[in-house]
Amino acid sequence: MKIAVAKEIDPLEPRVAVSPDTIKKFKTLGAEVAIEPGAGIKSGMPDSEYTAVGATISADAVKDADIVIKVKRPEASELANYKRGALVIAIMDPYGNEAALKTIADAGVSAFAMELMPRITRAQVMDVLSSQANLAGYRAVIEAAEYFGRAFPMMMTAAGTIPAAKVFVMGVGVAGLQAIATARRLGAVVTATDVRPATKEQVESLGAKFLAVEDDEFKNAQTAGGYAKEMSKEYQAKQAALTAEHIKKQDIIITTALIPGRPAPRLVTADMVASMKPGSVLVDLAVERGGNVEGAKPGEVADINGIKIVGFTNVAGRVAASASSLYARNLFSFIETLVNKETKALAVNWDDELVKATALTKDGAVIHPNFQPKTA
Ligand code: NAD
Repeated sequence: MKIAVAKEIDPLEPRVAVSPDTIKKFKTLGAEVAIEPGAGIKSGMPDSEYTAVGATISADAVKDADIVIKVKRPEASELANYKRGALVIAIMDPYGNEAALKTIADAGVSAFAMELMPRITRAQVMDVLSSQANLAGYRAVIEAAEYFGRAFPMMMTAAGTIPAAKVFVMGVGVAGLQAIATARRLGAVVTATDVRPATKEQVESLGAKFLAVEDDEFKNAQTAGGYAKEMSKEYQAKQAALTAEHIKKQDIIITTALIPGRPAPRLVTADMVASMKPGSVLVDLAVERGGNVEGAKPGEVADINGIKIVGFTNVAGRVAASASSLYARNLFSFIETLVNKETKALAVNWDDELVKATALTKDGAVIHPNFQPKTA
């Protein structure tokens, strides 16, 4: 079984799909690992670290590979080099990208989207959304600290007292929880909000205060899968009025609110931004899905009358070495389920719930029920 690690062609993608640690693990599965030159360099993993644990470096790594692993969905130019029938495993970003999925299907490969992994106990170790969101939440606070012209902790010095920064985290999933914990570690006074009632206790257990309109709709705002529901216009208006007052008094806002398969909810309007003090910083982790903050621009730091809106994309990639190590481990754990441990051969069980949830294409067709081509 040959596994190839492709170098990312997107110059803005510094992550890599393999680590020295996972190469060792792949070897115990009986796999040979070949890596495109320089694939790990932006994640602090030079070729020499890979060869030291038994991988080979080859510009042709993908050509005869049974499995190609990478970070981002492959483009047509990359697919042209893959063997028909190969498994291709990556973060595929399938929503709204049906044309790209067709290109992958036409290449005759079986593509798997890591971000569609079900959030069940068995698959926790493969949960790329969590491994990357956790780092993004951490990094969002670091970015905020970078652009904030003041200190986070309260400092009582001979020259006077500096007050603690006030941080408000909107959306308390994996990223939001890590943002709260990181801001607390830096000494900020932290409040947080979410539409899922279960988050209240989580926020409080991290030493932050919870802020939300807690009506009947709020009490039922969580799906069986643990995700947020899209809230009614009425609820959004009530919640916006409550948060608008709060936002005026904040120094830092970190937004992370997402609804799977839908555009990000707009939580902070331009008026709310304008109500903040100059020097305040907003970091919008949802900017790639339309943004929680009005005025956030993907890949940019907008300056509105001295208030900064940080719209960096691929925030986990800004902690590339850690993000790559965890992603590589997520991938290994999934691939391990696709291999027969005795024969050491690929043995994909197409009826396994993990395979069914993540498989996008097979035998020249898009097979995932959520991404079927629309019939006219
Ligand atoms: P996500 O990235 O989809 O969304 C981030 C947060 O935004 C969520 O908490 C969501 O409730 C919130 N949100 C959505 N609309 C909002 C609005 N209008 N206002 C405020 N907040 C809003 O979420 P996630 O980080 O992927 O986590 C979602 C859930 O999955 C959580 O319950 C998490 O604990 C759970 N989870 C389970 C597992 C597992 O069991 N293996 C692993 C990871 C996460």
